[in-house]
Amino acid sequence: MTSSASSVVSARNLCLTYDTNDGPVHALSNVDLDVRKGDFVSFIGPSGCGKTTFLRVIADLERKSSGDITVNGMSPEDARKARAYGYVFQAAALYPWRTIEKNIALPLEIMGYDKAEQAKRIAQTLELVNLSGFEKKFPWQLSGGMQQRASIARALAFDADLLLMDEPFGALDEIVRDHLNEQLLKLWKRTNKTICFVTHSIPEAVYLSTKIVVMSPRPGRVTDIIESTLPTERPLGIRETPEFLEIAHRVREGLRAGHSYEE
Ligand code: ADP
Ligand code: MG
Repeated sequence: MTSSASSVVSARNLCLTYDTNDGPVHALSNVDLDVRKGDFVSFIGPSGCGKTTFLRVIADLERKSSGDITVNGMSPEDARKARAYGYVFQAAALYPWRTIEKNIALPLEIMGYDKAEQAKRIAQTLELVNLSGFEKKFPWQLSGGMQQRASIARALAFDADLLLMDEPFGALDEIVRDHLNEQLLKLWKRTNKTICFVTHSIPEAVYLSTKIVVMSPRPGRVTDIIESTLPTERPLGIRETPEFLEIAHRVREGLRAGHSYEE
């Protein structure tokens, strides 16, 4: 099968095996997936099922062993050179000696934007994540949730259409996470980004996604792909509705099926 041109990310029979001293680790095995423009796709599964590896292959931080993958119709390497994506890591990964605005400016400096353009983009992205007024603060002066929003602003600063987010809210308490989930959905709608989002949380995956990819380990593979039937307008209360609980149930079943396979 060939990759679909309209897909932002298209994977066919994608495999990645790490060679380790203990022998090969099959991190991704025959992954078939299409992420379309404007999708919000969550990847959910137990530790070690290849979620981070998959994002890293998209980002050209790891090379596939076999199969096909395209990003915006290009090889991951060409997509990286074209700055096709922004990446948000599990920890905010902000430089403590740089202010928030200087942290966001860093990739822009590297890309050679002039000072005026940098300032414009910093102001725009801080506004998108509701951090206007915090540009002169240092990361340690912000709460964990605010730091993570600042790292999202940094990933948005060069306005790539694709945002890769690896458990961005995993270390935050549930109340902060709920709030950030709501904000992220609004941001996604306002910006028309395509988002690939890794999470361990079933409610988070169901609340955010247009598509949920359930994965299972040893070897890392996709066990279910669920197209969400929820409306795009999603107040937090939607999590109590039968429709939401039904999707959550299917995710849980998919996770369980993957688990029993392993035993
Ligand atoms: P997840 O993000 O779903 O927890 P990862 O993609 O990080 O899973 O890892 C998938 C599998 O590959 C795991 O078994 C992990 O130990 C292994 N792995 C990840 N990175 C490397 C690496 N650089 N070298 C060797 N093995 C790795
Ligand atoms: Mg991971």
